[in-house]
Amino acid sequence: MTFEEYLRRIPKVELHCHMMGSIRPETVAELARKNGVALPSADVASLYRYNSIDGFLAAAILTASTVRDPADLSRIAYESLADGARLGNLRHREMSFNPTLPPFAGMSYAAAVDGIVDGLRAAEVDFGVSCRLIAAIHRGDTPAVACAMVEQVLAHPRDEVIGIGLDGAEAPDPPEKFADAYRLAARGGLRRTAHACEDAPARNVATCLDLLGCERIDHGYLVLGDEALVERCREQGVCFTVCPTASAVCYFDADDFTAHPIRAMVDRGLTVTLNSDDPPMFHTDIGEEYVRMAQAAGWGLETVRELSLNGVEAAWLPADERRRMREQFELELERLEGALVPS
Ligand SMILES: [Zn+2]
Repeated sequence: MTFEEYLRRIPKVELHCHMMGSIRPETVAELARKNGVALPSADVASLYRYNSIDGFLAAAILTASTVRDPADLSRIAYESLADGARLGNLRHREMSFNPTLPPFAGMSYAAAVDGIVDGLRAAEVDFGVSCRLIAAIHRGDTPAVACAMVEQVLAHPRDEVIGIGLDGAEAPDPPEKFADAYRLAARGGLRRTAHACEDAPARNVATCLDLLGCERIDHGYLVLGDEALVERCREQGVCFTVCPTASAVCYFDADDFTAHPIRAMVDRGLTVTLNSDDPPMFHTDIGEEYVRMAQAAGWGLETVRELSLNGVEAAWLPADERRRMREQFELELERLEGALVPS
């Protein structure tokens, strides 16, 4: 087995993946047909071509418009997990969705979540991949809308919905805007993460940790600009869920990952996990993310092994499940390392 095959086949946990960014282009086309939605091009793959965050967000609005009911959500969730398992040996994912954005805004929260959960359960049976859900606040919402969303999550508890997140354009809407919603979530026993420092100053990471009580940070690249904060995050073992391709396309250099900030984050001893963010929308998958980033950064077995296990440690799993998953991962990593052809 080559190193590239090894990277694709090692067991993986993914903690940063948006369900609505994970729709296969062919499924977008089929849902558009089924639900009578006109698309601007018959070539659906062309909808997933852009080189900026604005282009991506416009495509995301379009794909969301093709989804109409809980059965559509079930299909999307199922297919997305199937792709992760098949292309990258994905074993566990904590996947986010935005209850206040389309298509969720057009359905009852409970019906939408139950649709997604149907897809998760079927994927677990068929592919052995577990999945939990993160209800994400959209930064463009008002603090009151964010609080109402969290209240809705708490009013309709489901075992699968374990935490909240925060996403959308970061610069105009800093994390402190949502302190009340995070306080509510904490009181209700929900876990907390937030997108931060993809294109906004390092202090947002400190705000997420101190004010929002976040246990993980999604992205977090610009933390590198604050040495004291890097030191603090390293000492606390804060986990950064980073996304090589999506961030390179929107903010860095999509043709050259050698200067990707993820490389410096690992070099500086931060805890990171690799994730695919919105895989088909960035023409990638979780296996491909490991291949692209490890090859560009020149990471060896030890680092790759650590990244795989970081995912297990940072997952919001009960302690016994985490222990079992870690044992399985260690055994499988050892077996795959043994099958590597020395280069
Ligand atoms: Zn994201």
